[in-house]
Amino acid sequence: MRVAFLGLGAIGAPMAAHLAKPSFELTVWNRTSAKARTFASRHGSAVAATPAEAVRGAEFIVTCLTSSAQVHEVVTSADGILAGIDGNAVLVDCTSGDPATSREIAALIANRGASFIDAPVSGGVKGAGAGTLTVMCGGDAAIIDRARPVLETFGKKIVRCGDVGAGDAVKAMNQALLAIHIWSTGECLASLSRLGVEARIALDVINGSSGRSNASENLFPERVLDRSFPRTFKLALLEKDIAIASRIAEDAHTPADFIQLAARLFSEARAIVGEDADHVEAVRVIEERAGVKVS
Ligand code: NDP
Repeated sequence: MRVAFLGLGAIGAPMAAHLAKPSFELTVWNRTSAKARTFASRHGSAVAATPAEAVRGAEFIVTCLTSSAQVHEVVTSADGILAGIDGNAVLVDCTSGDPATSREIAALIANRGASFIDAPVSGGVKGAGAGTLTVMCGGDAAIIDRARPVLETFGKKIVRCGDVGAGDAVKAMNQALLAIHIWSTGECLASLSRLGVEARIALDVINGSSGRSNASENLFPERVLDRSFPRTFKLALLEKDIAIASRIAEDAHTPADFIQLAARLFSEARAIVGEDADHVEAVRVIEERAGVKVS
């Protein structure tokens, strides 16, 4: 089975590594070609010079780029996906994208007789390495089933959420919750630190109580308390995701006060901590404003 993987970033590279197996004939492409060459020499895949070259003859094409705007660009550019795609191919977009652009891309792909599913992932670079990601899919059920052998290499939980765009929408809302949990946990722990309650002790209580979340159970213990703040998922990407969530709620005319507040706070945080900072480094902004470390 021929597979092309486009986008070897922080999460794309460990996902693609699962496809570098004899049962898949893998070709990779990355905008910065040095990353693709390094990947290929490590995993034994082929490297393509352009997206068109990568996807020629491929049954499945996986994209994992910054956002839908970059996917659109890689699909439509002169040497892009549309210039090389086969009529029976499936484009599996694992980017955390926006539903409207995904629907546009799906229509462009359908014009060539090929198929599109949005399939954003959750579980971080750790889950990508372990092959335990959650994959939220939007698109035709039969096409998602066809793509399962590819999705199952890096995903453990694979769920069809609805038509094209539904995977992106669920992912965006998941990210809004992640952002809200990080910010609110940071504020609560900063207040408690001021009162002299150690964050380690507070988290021990909260994680046995009803205020717990992935932020309190994993992110704070593993990244904040030891001050390691590893850079695995850019805050800028989370800001992009919350903006998508905010737009979805606006278009749906549903209340979105928390989502809009999270969008504003993470936008401010990005301006302070910068483009390369990890999403959990938002806590540094709360600490700065509180005049206390979460410790
Ligand atoms: P990175 O910033 O590490 O990688 C982004 C990738 O997109 C790189 O391969 C980059 O190429 C490529 N790219 C960016 N702009 C363009 C462009 N204009 N044309 C072609 N290629 C481009 O991001 P991640 O790997 O962390 O994230 C990828 C997607 O996965 C995002 O949508 C993110 O929200 C999502 N995600 C990330 C998670 C994580 O833990 N990191 C977790 C879950 C989802 P180049 O190398 O040349 O810069």
